[in-house]
Amino acid sequence: MTASAPITQDLVTIPRTLPESGRTNLVGLTRPALQAALVAAGTPEKQAKMRTGQLWQWIYQKGVRDFAAMTNLAKDYRAMLAARFTIELPEIVSKQVSADGTRKYLLRIAGGHEVETVYIPEEGRGTLCISSQVGCTLTCSFCHTGTQKLVRNLTAGEIVGQVMVARDDLGEWPAPGRAPKDETRLISNIVLMGMGEPLYNFEAVRDAMKIAMDHEGISLSRRRITLSTSGVVPEIARAGEEIGCMLAVSFHATTDAVRDRLVPINRRWNIATLLDALRAYPRLSNSERITFEYVMLKGVNDSDEDARRLVRLIAGIPAKINLIPFNEWPGAPYRRSDWERIEAFADIVYKAGYASPIRTPRGEDIMAACGQLKSATERARKSRAQIAAEAGLDG
Ligand code: SAH
Ligand code: SF4
Repeated sequence: MTASAPITQDLVTIPRTLPESGRTNLVGLTRPALQAALVAAGTPEKQAKMRTGQLWQWIYQKGVRDFAAMTNLAKDYRAMLAARFTIELPEIVSKQVSADGTRKYLLRIAGGHEVETVYIPEEGRGTLCISSQVGCTLTCSFCHTGTQKLVRNLTAGEIVGQVMVARDDLGEWPAPGRAPKDETRLISNIVLMGMGEPLYNFEAVRDAMKIAMDHEGISLSRRRITLSTSGVVPEIARAGEEIGCMLAVSFHATTDAVRDRLVPINRRWNIATLLDALRAYPRLSNSERITFEYVMLKGVNDSDEDARRLVRLIAGIPAKINLIPFNEWPGAPYRRSDWERIEAFADIVYKAGYASPIRTPRGEDIMAACGQLKSATERARKSRAQIAAEAGLDG
């Protein structure tokens, strides 16, 4: 990919019906799609809604994978379901557990592709960081995922499937009689901050998050789901309207010259255009703020002047600034800012009236931290020189 053409949407859609079995995977179908599939399989129209609800509960509330276990359905109906459908999740290839408790899953999806999902336990909450694409078409110069070419978009089933796989591993399907809505949930938050640009896979991300929010299933509040975008301006309003989740934006620079190099999508939609779209995001308020992600790169974007410019740029937007100490990866053309620099930057932002938490790197020992995700099997790495050239740096 050349620097002058940083943005391509190399979309490959795989059929939901897998050729091996000829059966349709129910995971990832929206309620209307599930209902239509049941009708197409011969379920009488007037029963279809009830059957949809029953299946929904088995799949998303109880975590059941076997039609034979769905005891409130007649035996021959269960047999019909098993003949026509599957309940399939990504398969865990490997799981690594960090010294700090962070878990990184390498998952295999249809076609043999691989994605990573990270679980981050914290005091009083637990966040699951999920992927939306295999690789990424964008080429942010500080991001490890950006050095991997896009292989394909994930399906809605593969996106919500990551949540279900993690629930399996954490043992979080509620025991009978226990309310599914439990404040002590292990997975209390979802962030779309893994591999890929979620707004370049809009429909699948939306459908998957609708399933995660559905009250009869995983039942997470829309306020506990955060979608992070590098700045796909035309899709931002739609995310607010059709998903209603919280928004994070990979801001990372305070001038177009620097942002062009760090986040090349800026050449298409620059800082001013991005800020206009953010100002228009639905429901913005003091309790629903936009998270500005800002990676701290030594000598690149971390000066006091940058901090002051940042505060001026975002004036009037309900915001919190999440400072991310750069996570290094093999061949990365940047270094992490010194700790005192990060604190000085945070202090300027904080004194201007914005929360400015510094994101503690989690799971660094297993390469699970922000921007370090990349399929282990992906060998065709760009060279350090190539990355540096695209970033506009000297070697
Ligand atoms: N593609 C989306 C979401 C995934 S990245 C996006 O770019 O917003 C999640 C966050 O980690 C983004 O803010 C991203 O810019 C940041 N990030 C990427 N590489 C990083 C690295 N090496 N160190 C720290 N943060 C990084
Ligand atoms: Fe893609 Fe986000 Fe990485 Fe940029 S930071 S290359 S948009 S995953």
